[in-house]
Amino acid sequence: MDIIYRPTKAIIDLEAIDHNMKVLKERVGAARVMAVVKADAYGHGIVQIAKQALKSGAEMLAVATPDEALYLRDHAVDAEILILGASPVSFLGEAVKRNITVTAYSLEWMEAAAAGLEGTDAPLKIHLKFDTGMRRIGFEPEEAEAAFAVAANPVFEVAGMFTHFATADEAANPLFLEQAERIKAIRQKWNGGPLLFHVSNSAAAILNPELAFDAVRIGISLYGIAPSSYVKNEMHLELKQAMGLETEIIHVKKVKKGDKVSYGATYTSDEDEWIATLPIGYADGLLRGLQGQEVLVGGQRMPIIGRICMDQCMIRLPEKIAVGEKVQLLGTQLNDTISIEEWAEKLGTIPYEIPCILTARVPRLYRGA
Ligand SMILES: *Cc1c(COP(=O)(O)O)cnc(C)c1O
Repeated sequence: MDIIYRPTKAIIDLEAIDHNMKVLKERVGAARVMAVVKADAYGHGIVQIAKQALKSGAEMLAVATPDEALYLRDHAVDAEILILGASPVSFLGEAVKRNITVTAYSLEWMEAAAAGLEGTDAPLKIHLKFDTGMRRIGFEPEEAEAAFAVAANPVFEVAGMFTHFATADEAANPLFLEQAERIKAIRQKWNGGPLLFHVSNSAAAILNPELAFDAVRIGISLYGIAPSSYVKNEMHLELKQAMGLETEIIHVKKVKKGDKVSYGATYTSDEDEWIATLPIGYADGLLRGLQGQEVLVGGQRMPIIGRICMDQCMIRLPEKIAVGEKVQLLGTQLNDTISIEEWAEKLGTIPYEIPCILTARVPRLYRGA
């Protein structure tokens, strides 16, 4: 559906993506940067972000699913793509044809893949994924030799090896160092051809650049969001939030002292008050838990009052303000900024969830770079 007549929109600042890519590349030195654009580039728009990240210096892309990789190929993105999650064997012929690299994560999967690939002309590019402590997908460290033996089948081309940290974004967790030691020991055992060895997500790439090895997988920080408040405090890096969210006031009214506002009548005005209605609600991703969150109007903070509805919500104004006035829900207006971290804190969640919950009804518009 085209979205033309509603003032609610997300503005994605490609200049911020460019800036973040450059400072992150500087942090990891010679390591290649794999821009992680899964989940529609964390809600920012997969094609636009992939193209900008490559233009700004990313050497590769990573996605979570086969369909995300195919979507990129169908939109003229021909950079190297790694699928981080599990791919069904039924997809592998297509992966070979479209030059998409997949993750090999269990002996069972590898055997099924080898059988499925019998008779195809080109080898399937794989990265061997080891589970060194996350307990999600990946070979057990003890399975290394067996995995290497199956990987020697000429239907495969082993292009990389990796693991994923469970605790890279927190202070000195012993599991982090254990995982690093386990994967280094597995790397030592490999006696096949050259491969891309990578272990780090944003948090590890930023705080432990000595573990950058051949490549890093950069997701959240590319979008200008710190992986955690711990990383934010320790990183000494200026990231720029790429996502802004804005709308306009569509109705202004004066309510009497004691009037109730919105479903459930949870808000009662203390005095005669000016309130405004905004055309954005939980169906856009403005979750009901954001009741009380502030928005910016003319650079000033004003609270969301009463229950957030599916398509609309109300804010309290300090005085009468004209219909049509711009409202910033995320991002900067004059001298103040509402960060994604602020919403995450209000909702009791991690910042990763915030851009991902803005729904398809909110158009993404791009500016800069
Ligand atoms: C999502 C993901 C990343 C990116 O993590 P960020 O914390 O967003 O940088 C890296 N590696 C794997 C395996 C992932 O699933």
